[in-house]
Amino acid sequence: MSFSEPPCQLKIAALKGVGAKTLERLGRLGLHKVQDLLFHLPARYEDRTSLIPLGSVRQGEHALVEGQVDVADVIAKGRRSLVCRISDGTGFLYLRFFHFTGEQLSRLKPGTHLRCYGEARDGYFGMEMVHPDYQHISGEEVGNITQSLTPVYPLTEGLHQKTLRSLVSRALELCREEQGLLHEWIPGELLSTLALPPLSEAVQLLHEPPAGVGLQRLEQAQQRLAFEELLAHHLSVSRFRAHMRQQSAPVLRLPETVSRQFLGSLPFALTMAQNRVIEEITADLAVSKPMMRLVQGDVGSGKTVVAAWAALAALSSDCQVAFMVPTELLGEQHYRSFSQWLEPLGVQVAYLASKHKGQVRRETLESIADGRAGAVLGTHALFQEEVKFHRLGLIVIDEQHRFGVHQRLALREKGARDGLYPHQLIMTATPIPRTLAMLGYADLDVSVINELPPGRSPVKTSVIPSTRRSEVIARIGDWVKNGRQVYWVCTLIDESEALECEAAENTAAALAGALPNVRVGLVHGRMRQGEKEEVMSLFKSGTVDLLVATTVIEVGVDVPNACLMVIENPERLGLAQLHQLRGRVGRGPGDSFCVLMYQPPLTLTAKQRLGILRDTSDGFVIAEKDLQLRGPGELLGIRQTGQVQFRIADFARDSEMLDQVKATAEALLQRNPEAVEPLLQRWLSDGTRYAEV
Ligand code: ADP
Ligand code: MG
Repeated sequence: MSFSEPPCQLKIAALKGVGAKTLERLGRLGLHKVQDLLFHLPARYEDRTSLIPLGSVRQGEHALVEGQVDVADVIAKGRRSLVCRISDGTGFLYLRFFHFTGEQLSRLKPGTHLRCYGEARDGYFGMEMVHPDYQHISGEEVGNITQSLTPVYPLTEGLHQKTLRSLVSRALELCREEQGLLHEWIPGELLSTLALPPLSEAVQLLHEPPAGVGLQRLEQAQQRLAFEELLAHHLSVSRFRAHMRQQSAPVLRLPETVSRQFLGSLPFALTMAQNRVIEEITADLAVSKPMMRLVQGDVGSGKTVVAAWAALAALSSDCQVAFMVPTELLGEQHYRSFSQWLEPLGVQVAYLASKHKGQVRRETLESIADGRAGAVLGTHALFQEEVKFHRLGLIVIDEQHRFGVHQRLALREKGARDGLYPHQLIMTATPIPRTLAMLGYADLDVSVINELPPGRSPVKTSVIPSTRRSEVIARIGDWVKNGRQVYWVCTLIDESEALECEAAENTAAALAGALPNVRVGLVHGRMRQGEKEEVMSLFKSGTVDLLVATTVIEVGVDVPNACLMVIENPERLGLAQLHQLRGRVGRGPGDSFCVLMYQPPLTLTAKQRLGILRDTSDGFVIAEKDLQLRGPGELLGIRQTGQVQFRIADFARDSEMLDQVKATAEALLQRNPEAVEPLLQRWLSDGTRYAEV
C-alpha cells in the first residue's frame, strides 16, 4: 500500500481482499475512502463483554455464551431447520437455523467450541437461540472475549455487519500505523477550552467503546466529530465569502430627489423596519464590493417596495436590474407594481414571460441587451444563455427558498462583466433559522423586516377535521353575506398537478352547488395564464366571493378584503408553506381567520405541526419548529442540491455548538491557516464545497 497521496484520500479499494461487490455496496452507503469507514458511526452497540453461563441464560435476554457442540442435525419436523446443542457444564442451549448450508452443518462437529450472541427464548427442546451470531473459537480463544462494546452499523442490502465491522477495525488499525489519517488539525489549546477529546481518540471510542463507557463520553466523542464537520463547512463558506469580498461591483447611489419622488408616490409611508433595511442596503451599494444581502420579512411585511427602492438605486446609476420571481403569476403581479412605481420615473420595465414567443420575445431580449429595458422581471428563464444584459448592476431574487443554493451562486457569475459583479439582494418570507443561516447562508448579510405595516392583526387559526366540512361551508355563506371574501385552498394530492387541479375543479363545483348565492371562482396551475389573471382580477375587484385555488396562490397575491381562508388537507404541506398561504389573509382591517381542515386520523407529528401553526403567527418560530420536526432539506429545498448535507452533524442536535464553531474557525484562519485545506478535504466532498477558489 502506498501513501503517496494524502491519507484522507486513501480508497477502501486499496485495502487487500475487498471485492468489487463489497465495494459497490459500501458505495451505496457513501463509503469510498478509508476515512469514510471511520466516520460511519454505529447506530447502537451490543454488550458482548461478559459471558453468561449456559445454565443462567434467561428467556428474552440478549446474551453472549460459549459452549462445546454436543450434537448437530437437520430436523425435518415442523419447519426444516438445523439444530445444534452446545453445553458448558452449567447447562445447555440449542441453536436453531432455518437457513443454513451443508458446509455449515459439517463444521459443527461434536467437541468444537462456539461463541454465540443472540436472544434466548424458550424453544421446543429447551432454551434456544434462533439465528445467533456465532463463530468457531479455538483453544486459547475460549473465554477470551472482547472488552469493547460491539458496534452495530447502519447497513445496506447485501452488506453484512461482520464485513463492515472487520473493515472498520482494519481502518482503525491503519490509523494507529498511519497517524496522518486522523491528523489533529485543531490545536490542543483550542480543544481543551472546548472540552472535547482529540479526533483519533473520539473515533476510536465510538467504534470500540470499552465496556461500561458512560453515555456522556460517547456523546462527547460524537460532538467532537460533529464539531469538526461543522467547522469545515464554516471554513468553506468563510473562504468563499472572503473570495467574493475581493471582487468589485459598481457603486450604486440613489439621488435624494429621486428617492423622495418615489416614496412620495406611494400610497403609504414606509415602516421603521423598511426604512432601516433600506439604510442597510444603501450602505452596501455605496461601496464597490458586491452586496450579498438576504432580506427576511414575514409574509406581507412589504419586501417588494424595498426591492423596488434598491432597483431604483441601480437604475439611477446607469445599471440594469434583474428581478427574479418564482412563478409566472407572481411575475405578472410584480410587473404591474414595478411598472406603476418606476415608469413615472422614466424607467422601462420589461417582463420576460415564458408565454412570450417569437417577435415579442425577440424584442424584449433586444431591449435587455441594448440596455433600453432597465428593470427586467422574469422567472429563472431570466438566466438562460440567450438573455444578455447590457450592464447588470443588481440581481433581486424574490422568495429565495424556491431556488437552490447553487443556482444562486451561479447567478453571480452570470452577471459578471468587465471584472464587475452585480450586487445581490435576496428576499424571503421563510425565516432562515440561525442554524442554517450560519452555514448554508453564511455568505450573506441578513436584514430583517421585523414589523408589519400598521393595521394588520394576526390571523386566528383553527384546526378542524373534515368531518365538520358542512359547518365550514355554512360559515362561508355567512361571511359572504357580510360582504367578505374567502379563499379555499386545495392541496397537492399524490404529487400530481393534474389530480390537484381536478380536485380543485370538483371542489369548486361542489361549493357552488352548496352555496347558490356565492359567486365561486377557480384558479389552478393547468389554466392558461390569461384565464388565471382574469379570475384573479375578478376576485380582486370583488366580483368573485369565493376563490377556490390550488397552492398557486401561495406567493404574493394581495386581496385585503379576503379574510377567511380554508385550507384542505393542510397535513400534506410544510409549515413554512402553510404560513405563507395563511399570509394571504389578514391584510386588511378587522379580524381574519384560517381554517385548517385536515383528513382524520392525524399522526402525532402532524397534530403537533398543525398545533404550532394554530398557536403562533411568528414565522420565525414556525420555521425553527419545522426544522426540528422535518429537517432542513425539506424546509429550504436544499436536499436536492446536496448543499448542506452532513455525515455526523445534526442541525437540531448540534446547533448549540455553532458559536464555538465560528470562533474556532476565526482562530484557525488567523493562527493556523495551513489547517484549512486539509479540514475541507477531510469533510467536504467536492459536491458540497462552495465554488472552488
Ligand atoms: P411581502 O413582504 O410578503 O412581499 P408585499 O411587498 O407584497 O409583502 O406587501 C404586501 C402589501 O403591503 C402590498 O399591498 C404592499 O403595497 C403593502 N405595503 C408595503 N409596505 C407598506 C407600508 N409601509 N404600509 C402599508 N402597506 C404597505
Ligand atoms: Mg413578496
